[in-house]
Amino acid sequence: MSTGKINVAVENIFPLIKKFLYSDHEIFLRELISNATDATTKLMHLSSLGEIKGDLGNLQIEVKIDKKGKKLHIIDSGIGMTHEEVQKYINEVAFSGAEEFLEKYKDSAKDSGIIGHFGLGFYSAFMVAKKVEIITKSHSNKPAAHWTCDGSPEYTLEKSDKQSRGTEIILHIDKDSKEFLEDARVGELLQKYNKFMPIPIKFGTKEETLPLPDGAEKDAKPDKITVDNIVNNPDPAWTKKPSELKEEDYKSFYRELYPMQFEEPLFNIHLNVDYPFNLTGILYFPKINNDINIQKDRIQLYQNQVFVTDNVEGIVPEFLTLLRGVIDSPDIPLNVSRSYLQADGAVKKISNYITRKVADKLNSLFKKDRKGFEEKWNDIKVVIEYGMLSEDKFYDKADNFALYPTTDGEYFTFDELKENIKDQQTDKDDKLVILYASEVDSQHSYIKQAKDKGYKVLLLDSPIIGHLIQKMEGSKDKISFARVDGDTLENLIKKDETVISKISDKEKEKLKPIIEDVVKEGGYTVQLEPLDSKSLPFVLTQPEFMRRMKEMQQTGGGGMMGNMPDMYNLVVNTNHELVSQILNTKTKKKKESLIQQALDLAKLSQNLLKGEALTQFIQRSVDLIK
Ligand code: ADP
Repeated sequence: MSTGKINVAVENIFPLIKKFLYSDHEIFLRELISNATDATTKLMHLSSLGEIKGDLGNLQIEVKIDKKGKKLHIIDSGIGMTHEEVQKYINEVAFSGAEEFLEKYKDSAKDSGIIGHFGLGFYSAFMVAKKVEIITKSHSNKPAAHWTCDGSPEYTLEKSDKQSRGTEIILHIDKDSKEFLEDARVGELLQKYNKFMPIPIKFGTKEETLPLPDGAEKDAKPDKITVDNIVNNPDPAWTKKPSELKEEDYKSFYRELYPMQFEEPLFNIHLNVDYPFNLTGILYFPKINNDINIQKDRIQLYQNQVFVTDNVEGIVPEFLTLLRGVIDSPDIPLNVSRSYLQADGAVKKISNYITRKVADKLNSLFKKDRKGFEEKWNDIKVVIEYGMLSEDKFYDKADNFALYPTTDGEYFTFDELKENIKDQQTDKDDKLVILYASEVDSQHSYIKQAKDKGYKVLLLDSPIIGHLIQKMEGSKDKISFARVDGDTLENLIKKDETVISKISDKEKEKLKPIIEDVVKEGGYTVQLEPLDSKSLPFVLTQPEFMRRMKEMQQTGGGGMMGNMPDMYNLVVNTNHELVSQILNTKTKKKKESLIQQALDLAKLSQNLLKGEALTQFIQRSVDLIK
């Protein structure tokens, strides 16, 4: 037997290990199973090279709880270690790695996230164990070794009589980590971190019912057998070639990833590159609708089938974090902070690659099955619009397949839209005016008026659309988006013939202050204009610019304008009969009541009349028709 002191400069590194990753103690199990997996794959590799002869036997890894002895065992049949290798890898090399890691990051522990996920390796066992043993026998057939360390820098290393090849790690669980002696807790960790690791992991046993043999008696009882409980799927879909997988395989993998998701994904994207970086994965487009709130089921990041995190921020462009699925890459640096990740060239390349693949997939879906794409549009538009807004490269590609639906359910690409509204819909600066509505019901009367004039009206109802149309107006030539209730159609769209006002300028001057006086409580800006006689007598409009700024601040976070009240213009249609009638009415009271009635009708057509105002309107209407 030999004893010694672990090669360590920081005397009290063990307390530091404990404290450093306080919230992340559970990762010890992943680290130890990763080591066991590495040892097993190394063995398989040596065997494939012919350096190890004969049958390798059952290579599964076992996790075993000894509740009474307060021990947790992790057992593999991998390459194992000789006495010298334990000395080298455990006592010297491994520890210096951990030490370096702690030195480097102890100040930035706050900037966690990915930090601390990898790097401590074997020594993370001391986060939960007061004493750790390694019993290991190398494939090289040298005598087995038994290493013990009780959490102080002193260890013992002696011979062991272990006969079988491989390594057993025994953790004497600390009293404040008793949770790791519970089946349920350990089972949960295995599900979280090891669900797709490449070597089968046994955790306990389970009973299986054998099928009855043919011609069995009617009341025969089926036989039950006890089998190993394997907790992982060592060959998850993303490790296979796309050509080996059918649609149904992708769907069943989705269910495996998100057992609580009952809705099927819309489609998937299989990622597969090996140059200039290594990355595989499957991304799924779920139905998203207009809900861009943070979701629970997120994209999971793996490194060689070991779960790392489900916070892929920085690795996947933000707009794609709305998707689900798996990304697996050994090339993503994990021991670094997020701000470093975002600046890292390799990570930038990965992010660009993913963006391109998603754009290509959408483009091919659009080309192959336009109708199907239109049907999915409502469920995927938020992702596409968000991508167009935030990634210029995506914007360029999406221009070919992003759709602009009309209130009548037609779907246009931007070019088709321009084709369809050419010539007839321009403003005084010769810009193409793209009319849109955000809500069919409350903007119904405005939509109808525009449609009656033969104009196309889009239905753009995503929460971020304001930002996107702002960007489009800036990057495309001579276009302007205008919501149907933003101004009168007469003001929005230039017509060759000018409409003549039925009442004179003098009469207008007389009428304006009277109306202003009645409506002053609403804070409206009153404008008198000769509108189409089919328009309402009074029309409320909400100027495009102010409304858009306000909406953008609401979706873009904070800002003063978000808190401002809505501002409306009150357009008085000087060509409407009722307005002439108001002008000619003798009694002040009757005049006021007509003005109030016209205002309420305008409000009603925008679904703005509520509560007491609505009750008064109804009473007044009854009085007027009596
Ligand atoms: P890392 O795995 O990052 O190299 P660790 O501290 O986890 O760091 O392990 C140090 C070394 O100890 C490993 O590189 C490996 O050589 C050896 N080792 C650890 N666990 C095992 C095991 N279960 N079987 C064989 N060798 C192991």
